[in-house]
Amino acid sequence: MKLPYAEPFRIKMVEEIYQSTQEQREEWLKNANYNLFNLRSSHVFIDLLTDSGTGAMSDKQWGALMIGDESYAGSRSFDALQQTVENITGFPYLLPTHQGRAAENVLFSVLVKEGDVVPGNSHFDTTKGHIEFRKAHAIDCTIDEAFDINDLHPFKGNLDLEKLEAVYRSHPKEQIPFCLITITCNSSGGQPVSLENIKAVKELSDQYGIPVLFDSARFAENAYFIKKREKGQQHKTIKEICKELFSYGDGMTMSSKKDGLVNIGGFIALKNREIFEQASNFTIIYEGFITYGGMAGRDMSALAAGLDEATEFPYLESRISQVEYLGNKLMEAGIPVQKPIGGHAVFIDALNFLPNIKREEFPAQTLAIELYKEAGIRGVEIGTLLADRDPETRENRYPKLELLRLAIPRRTYTNNHMDYVAAAVKNVFERRNDITKGYKIKREPAILRHFTVQLDRA
Ligand SMILES: *Cc1c(COP(=O)(O)O)cnc(C)c1O
Repeated sequence: MKLPYAEPFRIKMVEEIYQSTQEQREEWLKNANYNLFNLRSSHVFIDLLTDSGTGAMSDKQWGALMIGDESYAGSRSFDALQQTVENITGFPYLLPTHQGRAAENVLFSVLVKEGDVVPGNSHFDTTKGHIEFRKAHAIDCTIDEAFDINDLHPFKGNLDLEKLEAVYRSHPKEQIPFCLITITCNSSGGQPVSLENIKAVKELSDQYGIPVLFDSARFAENAYFIKKREKGQQHKTIKEICKELFSYGDGMTMSSKKDGLVNIGGFIALKNREIFEQASNFTIIYEGFITYGGMAGRDMSALAAGLDEATEFPYLESRISQVEYLGNKLMEAGIPVQKPIGGHAVFIDALNFLPNIKREEFPAQTLAIELYKEAGIRGVEIGTLLADRDPETRENRYPKLELLRLAIPRRTYTNNHMDYVAAAVKNVFERRNDITKGYKIKREPAILRHFTVQLDRA
């Protein structure tokens, strides 16, 4: 008999979670102004809000934490992190930051100015925020297949080279500080970018003299998909794939809360010494001295260990097969999800799930609220609230997809939890025709509204 798959770890510490009643949850929702970011975590049974900083650390990481070096400058923890990052990426110049958006803030302070354009594949929300805050524009060059949730393209995070070249042709070089490749592509569903596409983007960008940077929060998951799906890559190790992938770029920003397997942290890694020196000045004003940048020494040690673990195949296989497990359960029940299932989350197509809710009443947010009400599960809207308003016209931007994201924290929940989630989604699906009213905005901030927007029943 062929043995079934089993996780390559066992559990050393557990945390209790509590189930509430539907009545309690309705009350809490109202108090939270129907924004799930405003809920207390103790009011959530299974928290799939994000996979960012919510995973479990290994015994090796906890061990590394104990031997962290808290020296202000030149700590052993920094050296360990710098060595690990250079081994994995090939980038010699490292600037730690307190998280990914801080890395964006520091690096974009050097590179992005008013009127610039930054082409890429569906920029992440904070990334776009940091570009638009500087009165520059993010231009989405993702392939069209990414926006058809039933298209089985294996690399839906890929950039469309024609769209990219059109940007390069229509703007002077001085207005394009870099091309940004997000791996995996979060906003289009945790979808990977192929090595072939990365290489082609690099070649095209070289022709126009434009640097290539990576927004690399889930680079290891991206490398796993390359190994599994791309021709000629099966025999390579994850670390070999990472090394090649990063060789086609000039630098990276990183949110260590994802594939760094830690709860907080980020960094910039660069090929070029001059940009590193300029960015160092901004690190010192915004983050801290250049060998800690807002991180404790112990956290840098845990991060070094985490990066090493995240780039090993058995870990990635357990991680991504759990996400697939949930996705398959939902598909079997006929629930419209984005295919293929992405690396860190399952995305439910809310326009198909709740056809009775008008676009301007936020179908994906409505679905998120219904799922919380049903079973105490917290997901997140990846739709019109997240897409925010056009910075010039202030009109709502309606994205092509209106999704509910169920992000799976790393090494945190069991497949029984996944079964529970699948059953709850099915229950909501069965009563979908009774859900006819969505939500309207009561109050919203000027940018990044989805975090703090206040809603009311429409
Ligand atoms: C999470 C994330 C960021 C921002 O990182 P934080 O650590 O949350 O500040 C940037 N880009 C991508 C692709 C991300 O997933």
